[in-house]
Amino acid sequence: MDPLLERYQDLRRRLPPEVALLAVSKGRPAAMIRALHGVGQRSFAESRLQEALAKQAELADLADIDWHFIGRLQANKVRPVLRCFAAVQSVDSPELARRISRIAVEEGLQPRLHAQVKLRPDPAKGGFDPDDLRRHWDELRQLPAVHWQGLMAIPPLGLDDAGLRSFFREAVALADDLHLEGRSLGMSGDWPLAVAAGSTLVRLGSTLFAPGPQGASRFAER
Ligand SMILES: *Cc1c(COP(=O)(O)O)cnc(C)c1O
Repeated sequence: MDPLLERYQDLRRRLPPEVALLAVSKGRPAAMIRALHGVGQRSFAESRLQEALAKQAELADLADIDWHFIGRLQANKVRPVLRCFAAVQSVDSPELARRISRIAVEEGLQPRLHAQVKLRPDPAKGGFDPDDLRRHWDELRQLPAVHWQGLMAIPPLGLDDAGLRSFFREAVALADDLHLEGRSLGMSGDWPLAVAAGSTLVRLGSTLFAPGPQGASRFAER
């Protein structure tokens, strides 16, 4: 059996059935996406628009792929991203949320959104300050044409297991407070801890597509 498909089946077996697996296919060829689609995977995530467009063109015959955008989203890319991604997990400011809503109305689209939160200072990453998100939440949750699905958070580098556990617990508590059911927590290096804390969706790149020594991805790809 194809090692990619073996890793996929193994991850699926280890994940609780109620936890969704989002295959982070950035940097991977369309052929790998096609192979995973062939065994039932439907949700794929990309972080760069140009790269995603090229793969989506190659995979145009697979109409039921659910594409998630997980990269930093610049204001001038909102329209093209909404046209080819049904879900955006990297909504990181009130301004961006309002812009997404306005353009979704214009385009007749209903994107599913995750608010990306920054629970620790981290110059390398975007994300709502949690207090800022709480303050704006009454307005944001009522924005037209968008469907808020959950929170997304990326732990900063260098946390040990105890630090990761409390990070994920905080994210889950914030999602509860905001009545958001989706918790997009957990990547290749930390997903078991995220799932134990209440993650509902794990975003897996390297452990699925390219494990091995370089699979210590928390310390590489970000
Ligand atoms: C790249 C990326 C992932 C996947 O990371 P791995 O550690 O390779 O699983 C998950 N989430 C986001 C936002 C990413 O940019």
